[in-house]
Amino acid sequence: MIDSKHIETKTIHAGKVKDGQFGALSTPIYQTSTFIFDNVQQGSARFMGEEEGFIYGRLGNPTVRELEQRMAALESTEDAAAFGSGMGAVSATLLANLEKGDHLIASAALYGCTFSLMNHKFPQMGIEVSFVDMTNESEIRAAIKENTKLIYFETPINPNMVVIDLEMVANIAKHNNLLSIVDNTFMSPALQNPAEFGIDLIVHSATKYLNGHGDVIAGVTCGSKEQIENIKLTTLKDMGAVMSPNDAWLIIRGLKTLSVRVERHCENAQRVAEFLEAHPRIKQVNYPGLPSHQGYPLIGKQMRAAGGIMAFEIDGTFDDAVTFMNSLKLCSIAVSLGDAETLIQHPASMTHSPYEEEERAAAGISETLIRLSVGLENVHDIISDLTQALDVMNSRLRQVG
Ligand SMILES: *Cc1c(COP(=O)(O)O)cnc(C)c1O
Repeated sequence: MIDSKHIETKTIHAGKVKDGQFGALSTPIYQTSTFIFDNVQQGSARFMGEEEGFIYGRLGNPTVRELEQRMAALESTEDAAAFGSGMGAVSATLLANLEKGDHLIASAALYGCTFSLMNHKFPQMGIEVSFVDMTNESEIRAAIKENTKLIYFETPINPNMVVIDLEMVANIAKHNNLLSIVDNTFMSPALQNPAEFGIDLIVHSATKYLNGHGDVIAGVTCGSKEQIENIKLTTLKDMGAVMSPNDAWLIIRGLKTLSVRVERHCENAQRVAEFLEAHPRIKQVNYPGLPSHQGYPLIGKQMRAAGGIMAFEIDGTFDDAVTFMNSLKLCSIAVSLGDAETLIQHPASMTHSPYEEEERAAAGISETLIRLSVGLENVHDIISDLTQALDVMNSRLRQVG
C-alpha cells in the first residue's frame, strides 16, 4: 500500500491490489458471474461471513472491489461501494437510510434525476422532502423536523454552479444528529474531499471525471465502513444496481490520469470563463474561478481549483441560445460532462426537463442558461469555436432586426 498524501501519486497507486498470480501491472478483469467453493462447508462459511472471499457477482467481484478500495483511498473514507450508474449510487445510498415517515432536506437545485426521485418517487413512498436554498444556513436549520434523517446536496450544484460550504452543512448535520450526503461528481476527489470537512457520505457519477473517457455509465459511494456495509447488504444487494467488472477496469484506468486531466480541464475552463465573461452577448458566467462568482472565496478552502464546468446565460432569447448551440462545430451538443471532448447542453430542455417551469425558476435555471463542460482540446480552438458561433448568433439577429 502506497502511503502518499499527494493526489498525483494516490490516483495511480492508492488502493491497488498486487496481482499475486502473475504480477500483472494492470488490474486483471475478473469477468465472472460466480465463484467456485472448495466444498459445501466453504460456501456456507462465506455466506455466514465467517470466511473472506467472493460468492456471486452481485455481492462482490475482485476487479470491482479494487475500484472501491481505490475510491475510498482517494476520498479519505474507510470504504466505498460501486454501482451500475450514478443514479444507482444516489438512490441506493438514500434508500438505505430512509424509510416511510422519514423526512429529508435537499437542495432546491440538483441533478435532474435526483430531483425527480425526491420530488416524485419519494412522496409516493411516504418519504417527505423539503427543498431549500443550501447557501442559506438559517433556511436549512428552519427546515429540520423531528423526523428529519438527512441532508442531501451537490457542490458546485448541477447545473447553476452555486457553491455550498461543506463545513457549514456538515456542522448543522452533526449538531442535529443527521446524516450529510454530498454528490461530489463535479469536483471529483482530485479537487475536493468532502470527508475532510465532516460530510458522512460522498456519491459520484463515475460516468464523468472518474472514468473521463465517455465510455462508461457507473457510480460510487464513499463513507464509513458501517455505512457502506449497510448499503451493500440492503439496497445494493437487494435492488441490484451493481457495476460490471469490465466497467470497473475502465474506471481504474481512467483514475490513473485523473489529476493530470483535471488540471488541464481547470486551466482550459478558466480561460474560457474569462473569454465568455468579457463577451458582450454573454449576460452572466457562473464559474467558481471568476472573482465575481459566489463560490470564489471557497477556492483554496474546500476546492483545490474551480473545475472544468461552467454555466452561462446568453444575453438574448431562447432562440438565440438555440442558434448559438446549433452553430458550434468543435463543441458537441451532448449531456454528460468530464470527458476529453468539450460538451455543451441546455439544461431547461435537456438534463433539467424533469423540473416544472416554476421549479426551474426556483432553482435558478433560466431558459437561456447553457452548461459547458470544457474538454482537453487546445483552449484556442475551443474559444475560436465559441466565438464563431456567437458571431453567427449576432448576424442572425441583425438580419431579423
Ligand atoms: C450525471 C450525474 C448524476 C447521475 O449519474 P449517472 O451516471 O448518469 O447515473 C448524478 N449527479 C450528478 C451531479 C451528475 O452530473
